[in-house]
Amino acid sequence: MAPLLIRERWVRELTGISLSDSELTFSRGRLRFRNRGELLFTHDGLSGPCAIDLAGDLAETCVRNEGETELIFRPDAAKDASAWRSVIDGWRVKEGRRQLRTVLGWTFPRALADAFCLLADCGDEKLCELPSAVRDRLASVLGGVSLTAYGSGPIERAMAMKGGIRLKEIDPATLESRLVHGLYFAGEIMDLTGPCGGYNIQWALSSGRLAGSSAAG
Ligand SMILES: Cc1cc2nc3c(=O)[nH]c(=O)nc-3n(C[C@H](O)[C@H](O)[C@H](O)COP(=O)(O)OP(=O)(O)OC[C@H]3O[C@@H](n4cnc5c(N)ncnc54)[C@H](O)[C@@H]3O)c2cc1C
Repeated sequence: MAPLLIRERWVRELTGISLSDSELTFSRGRLRFRNRGELLFTHDGLSGPCAIDLAGDLAETCVRNEGETELIFRPDAAKDASAWRSVIDGWRVKEGRRQLRTVLGWTFPRALADAFCLLADCGDEKLCELPSAVRDRLASVLGGVSLTAYGSGPIERAMAMKGGIRLKEIDPATLESRLVHGLYFAGEIMDLTGPCGGYNIQWALSSGRLAGSSAAG
């Protein structure tokens, strides 16, 4: 589970910006992963629980070997394109004489607001002058913009990883190896991870205690 490497340059130019409740979705056929939470822009992609959990989900599947993977990034997990269209229409009524870019900058960090304007090919217009088609275009970008992930890593920046000891080779009551008597396992050496949010450290502590007390007899 490591940060996602993202191809789009505009993402990598936003290093240091964070969002508190974003959403990343991967979907292909019946396979669908959706993660929501804090997201951090880095010099080579996206980090934070939302991205790292998705990287973990993708690593569970054959998707990791496919090179490039399309993701949908929604900066505010709670709003799809139609919700954004209502928000923009509301701004138009209340803040019609202001520039779109200025008002969008009240909602997102300024550099991110500028990036969204660039993607929707708008920004300098006064809100009252914004044609319906442009409002639709911006709402569509804010409701979910396509990104290209080309992997995750590097391993030095991984938050958690699965080890090589298969769970079926371990007695869950004692964490003793079923293959080698007297050998006990704890933490990441086992083929198991949880999402960000304390599950991995909890697993390390709990499994360490169980393995230790089992070994002590
Ligand atoms: C930056 C970061 C942030 C994280 N944040 C969270 C979080 O917020 N919540 C959460 O739940 N999890 C978090 N994790 C994950 C969590 O810390 C790990 O899942 C957990 O520490 C794994 O514990 P472990 O004992 O299995 O392995 P480790 O903590 O890696 O311990 C392994 C130990 O073995 C030692 N070692 C390695 N090789 C040898 C050797 N040959 N001889 C002797 N000693 C050796 C290492 O030096 C190390 O001290 C985070 C991880 C990172 C890197």
